[in-house]
Amino acid sequence: MTYGGNTSCIEIRTGSNQILIFDGGTGIRLLGNELQQEFGSHPINAHIFFSHFHLDHIQGVPFFRPLYNPKNHFTFYFAGRRAGNLLGDALAGMMANPYFPVDLSKLPCSREYVDLSEGTIELADTRIHMLPLNHPQGCAGYRIVQAGKVIAYCTDVEHGVAWSDNNVQTLAKDADFYIADSQYTPEELPEHAGWGHSSWEQAIDYGIQAGARRIALFHHDPYHEDAQLDEIFQNARLRHPNVIAAREGLEVTL
Ligand SMILES: [Zn+2]
Ligand SMILES: [Zn+2]
Repeated sequence: MTYGGNTSCIEIRTGSNQILIFDGGTGIRLLGNELQQEFGSHPINAHIFFSHFHLDHIQGVPFFRPLYNPKNHFTFYFAGRRAGNLLGDALAGMMANPYFPVDLSKLPCSREYVDLSEGTIELADTRIHMLPLNHPQGCAGYRIVQAGKVIAYCTDVEHGVAWSDNNVQTLAKDADFYIADSQYTPEELPEHAGWGHSSWEQAIDYGIQAGARRIALFHHDPYHEDAQLDEIFQNARLRHPNVIAAREGLEVTL
């Protein structure tokens, strides 16, 4: 009730007013409503990046209403390491008969699909760097840089594997805002080895190590009630003064 029950979706509005969306969990439904209100009859042009295709990161896409307006244009990106049109196939598969009544190919908006390998892309004055993270079936972390400000988006990552820990450090280096997987408490972590997530303590420790200035604890365990999350954030603030709790509708200005 306090932190929200929707799954992963964040919007970044850059200084040059580009719309970047990271992940299409159920939160993207509410974002769609807000964009429709803001743009009215004007076209929406947005870039949608996926960290990976686990359901909690894509299942809001069919309910993102701006997709049903022919004036709108969306570019979808996925930074995977696999060959083929994984991005288009993954989204189409989720919306195929009998899972959803509207086939992805029948959506009225115009679309592009970009399968990226790791590396950097530039969109106008924004630079986006992506690297793989340790997670079952793979995941990509992102570093977004615009006008000297840095946001790192590193959710769905299990620490303790050198290549992935190094990638987190690269992505979050001196970040102004580090959005970090903090699904478990330190006590819960051992019984979830191999599940691909972090504790809130690890989120803070890796953030401090990278020199991140502000840390957002993100991807809360759906089994944690508000009271447990309140307790986690009280403890988290003792460890780092600049930690905030991600919650539904939270807006942050850098
Ligand atoms: Zn996942
Ligand atoms: Zn997830």
